[in-house]
Formats: sequence, structure tokens, C-alpha cells
Amino acid sequence: MSDPNELTVLNPATEEIVATVPAASEEDVAAAVARAVRAQRTWAALAPADRARLLRRFADVVDAHTEELARLEVSEAGHTLGNARWEAGNARDLLLYAAGGAERLLGRQIPAPGGWDVTFHEPLGVVGVIAPWNFPMPIAAWGSFPALAAGNAVVLKPAEATPLTALRLAALALEAGLPEHLFQVLPGHGTTAGRALVDHPDVAKIVFTGSTRTGREVMERCARLVKPVTLELGGKSPNVVFADADLTAALDPFSFLDNCGQDCCARTRLLVQESVLDEARALLADALAAVVVGDPADEKTQMGPLISARQRERVRSYVPDDAPALRGSAPDGPGFWFPPTVLTAERPDGRAAREEIFGPVAVLLPFTDEQDAVRLANDTPYGLSGSVWTRDLGRALRVSQAVRAGNLSVNSHSSVRYWTPFGGFKQSGLGRELGPDALTAFTETKNVFISTEGPEK
Ligand code: NDP
Repeated sequence: MSDPNELTVLNPATEEIVATVPAASEEDVAAAVARAVRAQRTWAALAPADRARLLRRFADVVDAHTEELARLEVSEAGHTLGNARWEAGNARDLLLYAAGGAERLLGRQIPAPGGWDVTFHEPLGVVGVIAPWNFPMPIAAWGSFPALAAGNAVVLKPAEATPLTALRLAALALEAGLPEHLFQVLPGHGTTAGRALVDHPDVAKIVFTGSTRTGREVMERCARLVKPVTLELGGKSPNVVFADADLTAALDPFSFLDNCGQDCCARTRLLVQESVLDEARALLADALAAVVVGDPADEKTQMGPLISARQRERVRSYVPDDAPALRGSAPDGPGFWFPPTVLTAERPDGRAAREEIFGPVAVLLPFTDEQDAVRLANDTPYGLSGSVWTRDLGRALRVSQAVRAGNLSVNSHSSVRYWTPFGGFKQSGLGRELGPDALTAFTETKNVFISTEGPEK
């Protein structure tokens, strides 16, 4: 049973306690929202250039603390040091990108008879962000920074396992001179603090990232207040590999092993054309054996541990000991370790092929031709991400159009760039984050018609 008043943060690589943090109650959430309402009014009244200047200063302070933030992410989330450094840099870069957006939140002038018609993008007010534990720092940033840039205040509830980098970001915001209470971080339990944020009438929008199950509940609760919601949920993304592809690049195991597979964009369904299936197996077997799994703080480590004992049990439940599989290795002893694994005899309708495992586990599924590949790629309730590997440009375009997912890569495994929109089709979510339109998702459009004809008769 977890303590309702306190969160214990464990280092997933050692199982040692890193910190204990007070857990916010429903009353704490209400008080934070009241403070945020006041802070937002002052913030929205600033000239956009001044808001941008403060956000750029925030970026400078984050930049000066990237190593500290990265090490904190390693200790609370078990991320490899290289990944964690990238994540801190991503938070900094997004601040700079969003700061520019504050100065370019353009309305429109629409031709209308009898006067002038203009639109404004007005901030929503207080935005509630609920973040998961898999990418604590970037996901907190993606939800919060564009919202701030658009003139909103943010109350962020990090996952109970990983509150530390978010708390540090809030402290750095104050150090940079952002108004007090504009960006508040409230660690707490999802079923108390998270629900209280969702249910609060003065929280104008919720940005939720996490499981589809919890996302559905969040959406139902938002519906009661007709509250807008952005949902970034699960994935079971295909990696479609045609026989003519660069197989070594296409079957890079970090397409599903990055962050120990705890990545909603992980390409966990390896769809490989039948004619190269044996070659693919051999390449994967070698690649898995070569993955360096271990202490995430060691620069040479390529894959760290899972987040928790609970998550390891969940992942284990998909991989029976006798399941036909290619397997890498993992350390023994303390830490929530799991070896890189590819299940080689899973049926397309089997549990491991359909459910989000959120661990270093993929399934290998053969396909015959392009039509079969598209059918298999779309045979999932999810639609977040995916890759298409082929040297045939026409085929790459046809398959990209046919696969129903929000973020596809051709001859690449990348999914998330702060310059481009990110989000899912189907049960992978609702709405988009990042990209050139990120700020408008945190605004209401107001239309004002100005008559040029004097009083109407
Ligand atoms: P959840 O979706 O339950 O948690 C995500 C966030 O929501 C956390 O901050 C959590 O708080 C909070 N939360 C939990 N319940 C509620 C609620 N009723 N109302 C409001 N907020 C709530 O994910 P889990 O941590 O339980 O992970 C379970 C599985 O979900 C994983 O194995 C994985 O498959 C998937 N997942 C997917 C993610 C993605 O990016 N797509 C991210 C994380 C998980 P708290 O930490 O206190 O529970």
C-alpha cells in the first residue's frame, strides 16, 4: 500500500531510496489552482515580448543545469546518461521554440461585409498537466512550456515514481524570474491529486499522457465539465521492413529498446517481409546479444532498468520462460532489469502482439506483400507511431498514406521533434502537442467584428 501523504522515489537501477516527497492532497491542489488563477492574470497582461524574454531566460537557466537535471533523471527514472542529457536539452530547446511562438501568436483578419473582422488567440487560464514516469522531463515540458508561452499558468502533476526533475524545473523557472505560482509542480497520487486537478472547475484544460485506461477516465471526467483535453496514450507501433530495405538500419533494436522499451512510440511489432525473415532473425539475434545493459549512469550503457518491480512483473507476464524468443542479457541483483527480447512465434492476435507491454520486448511477424503489410500494421486499436523501410519511394509513400498513425518515419526510427506535431490516431490519443501549432492548443479563438457603418438600423 502506498503512503497517501508521501511519495518514495526509488533508483530503479539499485532499488535505493533517492528521496521522499510530500504527496499533494485535494486541498493542496485547490490552493495551487487558486494561486495559479491569480498568477495567470499578471502573466497574460505582460506584453508577448516580455513573456518571451522571461521564457528565454528560463531556457538559459535550464541550459546551465542540464547536467544536474540529466543526473537527476538517471537516478529517479533509470534513463541512460546519454538519453537524459538529450532530454534536458530538449526541455531547453522547447522553451526557446515556444518563446518565439509567444511573439507570433497571430490572429486573422477575415473579409466580412460591413466592417472589419479579426480573431485573437486568448489564453485559456490555468492548464493542468498530468505526466507519466517514462519520460518525466520531456513530457512535463511538452505539456507545460507551450501553455506558458500562450499566456497560461500551469499546474503539473508528475508521476508518483518520478517527481524530482519536474520539481527542479519549477525551481529553475523561479530562479529565471518567472512569476511566482505561474508554473507549479504538485507531486501526488493520480487518484487524489490527479483527479482533483481534472475535476477542478478553474482548470481550463487537461493535458494527459499515460495509459489508455487512465486517459479514458480523464476524458470522461473532463466531459462532465465540457473541459478540453489532450490525450497522449499508448502505442503498439509497427516497424514495416520490406525485403529491399537496408536491413541493418531497419532492424536497429533501439527502435524498441530505447528507454528500456518504456516508450509509447516504441516499434514493438517488427513486420518483416517473409523473403528476408531468416536474415532478419540472424541480424536481430546478433544485435540483441551486443546490447550493453547495466548501470545507466555509465556512459557506455545502452539500456537501463525498468522503472519498478510492478512494471517488471507486468513485462514478465508477456514473456513465458519457454516462449520461443531471441534474448539478450541483463544484470542480476538489485534493480528492475529485464533482457532485450524478441518473441519469434507470437500470433498476430496474441496478447504480446496486441497489448502495450512497455518493456524491452518486441514481436516478430512476417508479411507477404505490401497489402498484407498494411493490413497487419493497421490491425491494432492504437495508432501513434511507426516506421516504413524500403528503397522504393512510391511504396514508401503509399504505405505512409495507408497506415493509420499520427507519426510515421520512412527509413528512420525517429518520432519526436519539437518542430513537428506529435500525437496519435485511434486509441493512442486526441489532439497534438509540439510543432508550429503547439501554442494554439492552449488558446480560445475569439472573433471580434467591428462595424464600419455606424449604428445598425
Ligand atoms: P497511468 O496512465 O495510470 O499514469 C500516468 C499519470 O496519470 C501518472 O501521473 C498517474 O499518477 C496519473 N493518474 C493515475 N490515475 C489517475 C486518475 N484516475 N486521474 C488522473 N491522473 C491519474 O500509467 P501507469 O503508471 O499506471 O502505467 C501503466 C501502463 O500505462 C504502462 O505499463 C504503460 O503500458 C502505459 N503507459 C503509457 C505511457 C505513454 O506514454 N503512452 C506512459 C506511462 C504509462 P500516479 O503516478 O500516481 O499513478
